[in-house]
Amino acid sequence: MGQKTGVRYRLALATLPEGNDMRSMSLALALALLSAPGFAQSPNANPAPAVQAADPVAVLAGRLELDSYKATIKSLTDFGDRRQGTKRNRKAVAWIEAQLKSYGCSNVERLHYKYQAPPPSRPHSDTAMVPVIASGEVRSGVGGSRYRGITKATGVNTDPNRQPDEKLRTLDHEPATDGSRDDVYCTKIGTTHPEEMYIVGAHLDGHGWGEAANDDGSGAALVLELARVFNMPDVKTGRSIRFVLWNNEETGLNGSTAYVEQRAGLQGQELPKGLGKYPEPRWLAMIQHDMMLWDHGMPRADGSWNPEQRPEADINIEFQSTSKFADAAMKLGFFFRDANEKYATDYPAAVGPHMTNTDSTPFMDLVPALSLRENERGMQTGAGWNPTWHQPMDVYSMFSDKDFRLGLNAAQTTLGAVGQLAGVSLK
Ligand SMILES: [Zn+2]
Repeated sequence: MGQKTGVRYRLALATLPEGNDMRSMSLALALALLSAPGFAQSPNANPAPAVQAADPVAVLAGRLELDSYKATIKSLTDFGDRRQGTKRNRKAVAWIEAQLKSYGCSNVERLHYKYQAPPPSRPHSDTAMVPVIASGEVRSGVGGSRYRGITKATGVNTDPNRQPDEKLRTLDHEPATDGSRDDVYCTKIGTTHPEEMYIVGAHLDGHGWGEAANDDGSGAALVLELARVFNMPDVKTGRSIRFVLWNNEETGLNGSTAYVEQRAGLQGQELPKGLGKYPEPRWLAMIQHDMMLWDHGMPRADGSWNPEQRPEADINIEFQSTSKFADAAMKLGFFFRDANEKYATDYPAAVGPHMTNTDSTPFMDLVPALSLRENERGMQTGAGWNPTWHQPMDVYSMFSDKDFRLGLNAAQTTLGAVGQLAGVSLK
């Protein structure tokens, strides 16, 4: 993929027919953006600087700010680990709902579902070293991945005494109880195609007796920041964008699964008829954000870790090669990578085929689905690359500006890609 691929994608966008048939239009969008034309055209068009300056997507990307992103993460951590089925989780849902309303995002709604915990399995919180992978040894990870080099065991901390901050220990104290739960979402309604949407998501719940700052305050704040910027009064999009904060990700993707079960069948229906309102616009793609800050590299042989963000840190865009929409999702992944090259200020992005264990999974056989992360979920996160993962040290103060900036770059990447796909313009 050369540096000019973005130009070619935009040409593909510009030449899309503006027909009346919504179905064929959305098909045209899905196919034209995500398939052959972008790759087939000759890369001879250089973007004129004047055109770039007028690029509304670039203007919007410029409105994302590190301080604002950090402040949103900080506010989320004020609710502790936001564990599902607790008062602190419900308070976080209400706070997110109020934020979405304050951004002017339309139709702030909740999806209700019930959650009952399965019988408890033996908890484990083992951070011991496991043998270094030998040359030629194939050790498999989740999602179809393969571990490499030095790995560390991972697990969810369930011991409150490992949280040294007494105030936080108290805040995280209430255990989960079975019962009703809410996801919360809002929608930027498209001006020309309100009946179709891109879904941009992250999970609001966490666990491990920390503040769930990185997992997944960093993704939730990214979605909130995108909702804020896309809903500024001068911003229009042709297609709709839904910003969703899932609950119960950590217990097994229950909030996103409930959404798919309840709403997949409502896609594209105009309700009530004749008013141009679509409670569930047809899904064009789903993009999840889960753990966006920490890319410090492989654990060291002695079990310690690099305290600094590694300079070669990147954003990992993953699709699932075994999903029904693998081919379209792969092309969407490279479109996101290309958006990163155009709109992200610092860190690059890489595409991988092993998306797993996150809220895009329930969508992946219905629509092209991606996840964006700090690391590959299987090969890297699963191999213990992030020592804060589900641990008491997943707290705001653990992360530096170099870490937060990786999350900001992921926000720029998704804004860049979705802004182009949804057809953003400025009044
Ligand atoms: Zn997560």
